[in-house]
Amino acid sequence: MTRILVTGGAGYIGSTATAILFDRGYEVVVFDDLSTGHADAVDSRATFVQGSLLDPAALRNALVGCQAVIHFAGKSLVGESVEKPELYHHVNVDGTQNLLDAMAIHGIDKIVFSSSAATYGQPVDDPITEESVASPTNPYGASKLAIDKMISASGISAISLRYFNVAGAYESKTGWLAERHNPETHLIPLVLRATESNPLKIFGTDWDTADGTCIRDYVHVVDLIEAHILALGALQPHLHEIVNLGSGGGYSVRQVISAAESVLGRTVPAVESPRRAGDPATLVASIVKANSLLGWKPSRELNSMLRDAVNSQVQ
Ligand code: UDP
Repeated sequence: MTRILVTGGAGYIGSTATAILFDRGYEVVVFDDLSTGHADAVDSRATFVQGSLLDPAALRNALVGCQAVIHFAGKSLVGESVEKPELYHHVNVDGTQNLLDAMAIHGIDKIVFSSSAATYGQPVDDPITEESVASPTNPYGASKLAIDKMISASGISAISLRYFNVAGAYESKTGWLAERHNPETHLIPLVLRATESNPLKIFGTDWDTADGTCIRDYVHVVDLIEAHILALGALQPHLHEIVNLGSGGGYSVRQVISAAESVLGRTVPAVESPRRAGDPATLVASIVKANSLLGWKPSRELNSMLRDAVNSQVQ
């Protein structure tokens, strides 16, 4: 049985990955410092090691008996990264160097890394391919790009998966694994919790798009994790591949609101607000490489992401 170290396995995406990996017959060690994750999200079948990427000894201990790593751990708030760039570099980049060093000590040479569309910065291509210029516009994206480069230089077998907008939820054997960020900044959870007294703020209605609101590419977290499992099987010796994960199409903020209204059967209170600093108008992934290299295609549409997000939040 393959034993995988999942860093960040107490977070929204990492806990979903852990549950699905067990369902597929893998064994998982979860490594998480619980700075933003939740202990109760860690699958009960997993061995849980509470530790930080900044603690090399804890990493070495957690890796005992593992054959590969899926690396989700890291700081992930764009706004916070602008305020604390050194922290983002330290935790994400130095922390990943510690992880690679600990892997080398154990002779573990396989990693699937959670990279981000934020590595591309203001897009020059639509859709964005893996060949598009990577020029991040915030320290979070810069830290993910620095890690991608570090992994390339390390010579290990690696696939960096550049996520676009992840949404939806997975119902594991013990219940829904909901998106639970604090503070929550993501559109779909905020749309679902908007009320008359606390309406959703639409960040900009004067963008150069059909309805004036930003377009993003949403992918269901379960489809996303499928790609990680396929990536584990597609790792090639000493080769580092970069692969976008999205749906290949986009929805505007207003389209997301109206889809949510159909799913919820009520209106979503929303107010027009100024643009959010650093937002590009449109971010859509080319998923041609994900399909050709991994044989991956997402199968869950926006409505399914919304329905699963709703179900995960009401439990
Ligand atoms: N957005 C919005 N109001 C909010 C949160 C997000 O209008 O309260 C917009 C945001 O400007 C972007 C899209 O929704 O165009 C998705 O934002 P999110 O923060 O979910 O993901 P990002 O694209 O920043 O990774």
